[in-house]
Amino acid sequence: MREVDTVRNPLHTICVASQKGGVGKTTVALNTAYALASAGARCLLVDTDPQGAIGLSLRSRNRRGAGPGLASFASGNLALADVVVRSRVPTFDLLPVGPVAAQDAHGFAIHLADGAELARLRRLAEMDGYAYLVFDTPAGFGGVTLGALRASDWVLTALQAEPIALRSFPQLLEVLGALREDGLPAQLLGAVLTMTQLRNRTSAAVAEEAWARLPADVVFETTIPRDPIFLEASAQGVPVALLRNRPPPIASLFDQLAREVQSRVGHSESGEDEGPISLLA
Ligand code: ADP
Ligand code: MG
Repeated sequence: MREVDTVRNPLHTICVASQKGGVGKTTVALNTAYALASAGARCLLVDTDPQGAIGLSLRSRNRRGAGPGLASFASGNLALADVVVRSRVPTFDLLPVGPVAAQDAHGFAIHLADGAELARLRRLAEMDGYAYLVFDTPAGFGGVTLGALRASDWVLTALQAEPIALRSFPQLLEVLGALREDGLPAQLLGAVLTMTQLRNRTSAAVAEEAWARLPADVVFETTIPRDPIFLEASAQGVPVALLRNRPPPIASLFDQLAREVQSRVGHSESGEDEGPISLLA
């Protein structure tokens, strides 16, 4: 590996994926990407879900709902700049999925499944100097999600803290194993527990089980509690941090998760490997 190149232009590509829908993937993808960007890293969040509506509110009013997106990027020779939407945070850009008619969703998924278009997107993002490329994906590991997995270095999964949450985890490992056999780089970045209610016995038991059964370096220390503020943020299509003038305290959990992500991908600007910081002056 040419160390110099990776140091000069380290793009970390993260695919947020899970077998199940409704487990908090989009919430995690949007808020974590926003937190990474707020910490100063240039971040491009790509919505690959034709049902998705990430960041509609981040766009200026006259462009809302209209405009090209991933769908038009994948079917033509558009430059990244033609499809990327800038947010009001200078380091945070978004590539909306764009209009995909219901009858075209299948073709869209098939077109993207081999990962070639998303790998092209990745190369352009790298050339553009992004530090992170985050794919939000539809549920399951086929179609466009498979394409995103193929184009990614890392997979971040969300585990909803409910009884059957862990059941689909082995499938993810199987998919990653198959990708590796194909010579692709994707490896597990980690699993974040979402919608936890640690005062609820069932939910707490799931969290305990995840911590006990999955290797310690798989489950992120940060867990995302169930909170109605996420419904509100999703309805508006914004990260929770932008829901109010003063970011709600829960937004800081994503700053914490972003720090865990940075450390796991080896993105360090703070000399992390220099040993513990002495408590005493
Ligand atoms: P997915 O992308 O996996 O389908 P979403 O992130 O869209 O999941 O979440 C599904 C629904 O659950 C959305 O309405 C979202 O607002 C809500 N939600 C997500 N995370 C939380 C949470 N921590 N607490 C409460 N509601 C949540
Ligand atoms: Mg989603």
